[in-house]
Amino acid sequence: MMIFVYSLINFLILAAVILLFGRKTIVSIFRSRRERIGRELDEAQRIENSEPSLPGIPASFSDALPESVEAQLRAIRENAEKNAALCDEKTAETKNSLRRDMLADTRESMISAVVKRAAELMAQEPFQKAFRVREEEVADEIVSRMEITPGDIAYLTRHDVLYVTLTSAHPLPQNIVDRIGRRAEEMLAEVGGKPSYWVREDPELIAGFRFRVGDTVYDFTGADLLYRLRLDMETQNLRGDESAQQLLEGLHDSLFVRKYGVSEFQLGRVLSVSDGICWMDGLADIMYGEVVEFESGERGMVLDIEADRIGCVIYGQYERVESGTKVRRVGRIASVPVGDALLGRVVDPLGHALDGRGRIFTAERMPIERPSPSIPDRAAVSRPLHTGIRAVDALVPIGRGQRELIIGDRQTGKTSLAVDAILSQKGTGTVCVYVAIGQKDSTVTEIRDRLEKLGAMDYTVIVCAPASSSASFQYIAPFAGCAMAEYFMYGGRDALVVYDDLSKHAVAYRELSLLLGRPSGREAYPGDIFYLHARLLERAAQLSPEMGGGSMTALPIIETQAGDISAYIPTNVISITDGQIFLDSDLFNEGQRPAVNVGLSVSRVGGAAQTKFMKQVSGRLRMDLAQYRELEGFTQFGADVDASTRRVLEAGSRMMAALRQRRYAPVPDWQETLLIFAVSEGFAVGTDPEDMENFALRLSERMEKEHPEIVRLLSAGKKLTDDERGQLRDAVAACVERASTEAA
Ligand code: ATP
Ligand code: MG
Repeated sequence: MMIFVYSLINFLILAAVILLFGRKTIVSIFRSRRERIGRELDEAQRIENSEPSLPGIPASFSDALPESVEAQLRAIRENAEKNAALCDEKTAETKNSLRRDMLADTRESMISAVVKRAAELMAQEPFQKAFRVREEEVADEIVSRMEITPGDIAYLTRHDVLYVTLTSAHPLPQNIVDRIGRRAEEMLAEVGGKPSYWVREDPELIAGFRFRVGDTVYDFTGADLLYRLRLDMETQNLRGDESAQQLLEGLHDSLFVRKYGVSEFQLGRVLSVSDGICWMDGLADIMYGEVVEFESGERGMVLDIEADRIGCVIYGQYERVESGTKVRRVGRIASVPVGDALLGRVVDPLGHALDGRGRIFTAERMPIERPSPSIPDRAAVSRPLHTGIRAVDALVPIGRGQRELIIGDRQTGKTSLAVDAILSQKGTGTVCVYVAIGQKDSTVTEIRDRLEKLGAMDYTVIVCAPASSSASFQYIAPFAGCAMAEYFMYGGRDALVVYDDLSKHAVAYRELSLLLGRPSGREAYPGDIFYLHARLLERAAQLSPEMGGGSMTALPIIETQAGDISAYIPTNVISITDGQIFLDSDLFNEGQRPAVNVGLSVSRVGGAAQTKFMKQVSGRLRMDLAQYRELEGFTQFGADVDASTRRVLEAGSRMMAALRQRRYAPVPDWQETLLIFAVSEGFAVGTDPEDMENFALRLSERMEKEHPEIVRLLSAGKKLTDDERGQLRDAVAACVERASTEAA
């Protein structure tokens, strides 16, 4: 009995203890649960309530940058400053280029940090919600915009069925899936086909959904928004952290305020790739010359459209493009950045910097292919383009807006002549574009250094597609250079563009054409090689005053084999241009440099593009020189000559000497005319032809010092009256006499 009572008491005590503590625990468990639910409800309420204030920037946004970007930026900056400090003893140029590299690096890392941060933000609830609330509306938009393209119909006729895919980041409400599917079915039924409808989920889209019918994609996803953000950033001049912050705010803006819409583009697929050429299918509505973007980030340009495949050249590393890679239409024709920011830079044919001075930012782009100015938009070529080379300015004058071919064998001074023409534009406001096609990197570097040293890079752009670059780069290089020069022409300014050289350009185009399987014609060049060069060179023009009066002068260069100017490419380009400067290797080897062959060189614009006075003094020059060359041929056999022939020979040899000129030493117009006048009037008879360079130098120095009025007269370039000619003759005689007595 006692035992029973004891156990009862024990049981009661135990029960009381359990009741006491257990209740506390249970209450606390329930309470914490209730509190959690309460908190979640509050949070839900807060999000709900916070919707009207969404256009304001969430706290997470404002402090988005400090951790992720600023630390990185600081590290890069410190590192680069340290490097710059380390090379203190090096030139200022090296330091500057280091700083520029640093800026470029900073920019790159800023862009990736911003994109990464934007991706993180987009995964968060308010952003996800911003996508979710618009699902219905976007589905409506897609249903109304959905179209079956001619390309889809072509596919249907072959395969009977068209693939239709709806991919979303999260499961979509069934009614949206059904609505879109039904609409696709209806549209296809109209053209007698049926869809194969696939509904998928892909977390990589981050948010929203993407609908694809045939080649066409209607995209409303976080991934697409990020893609656009990156594109935006790449074309903007990001300078500091504030602009990165602004970009993030812009992203926020496009999501919540401007309501970013559905983007529509076409997708295709790579069938095969080889040697920088790839074949694709899909993209049925694509245009010739359009830009496509591969999944790997490479870009390409469409060059061939066949019934069931599209041929395109790939810029950049084509090894990264594989068969099966997706290709996206970018929706624009190939273009390059244009503007003053390019001056002084060396760029590749896509406008990317090659000189290590950081990215180039220009507000505008221009298509690389563009129709040439029409006849009413043009004016006659009448203003001279001074080249500073006596042989050219006197015998084959070039006018602004003219196309003058420089042609000759290898190593005959073709490039030097063109570079001299560029140097001579200093201070004239003319912008120069030098396009190097298939040249050695070392040649281009040398030209760049030379232009830089002589202060000509300030107004020059070098477009470089060296021998080591792909045929596709070499093919578009002159078109890119032309577009850059065109910008200045249409802006009412003068431009000079040098294509060095079009023989290599033709070879690059032949390579592409053969790879694209086009039939080959004469010398294995494709049939449209004439059209290729004609449409490039036709874009050079002197615009009419109504069009702004700008001009673009083109100096294409062609390399001949063993002086054969009747080969295919030379004859083509000769017939397209307004004349040619033929550089003769025999003359070059005789020491007559620049080796302009007077007989074979011609400028079809001719005297219209010379100053009046130059025209006056050089009128008889061509005839005299021809006569001299002929007589010279006879006398080479040591025949005795009469006095008058000897006189012609002596005058001729002096004139030939006067047309010799060192390279990279262009002279002003008045010095050219002065020397030619002096020599043709016989003032140089007593001078040794070898000494002509000195004679010219002394004459112009003296004239500048003692007869500044004559220099002014000559600089005006007007036709001289007999009186003025007399004055000039007296002044020259005085100078020559003074110089000879001094020498004695
Ligand atoms: P390539 O066929 O290799 O392109 P090119 O025809 O462009 O050659 P340049 O490179 O301009 O010829 O010149 C070849 C060489 O001729 C130069 O190294 C230079 O030394 C010499 N040369 C050119 N012009 C002159 C000149 N006016 N006076 C003296 N030498 C010259
Ligand atoms: Mg050359």
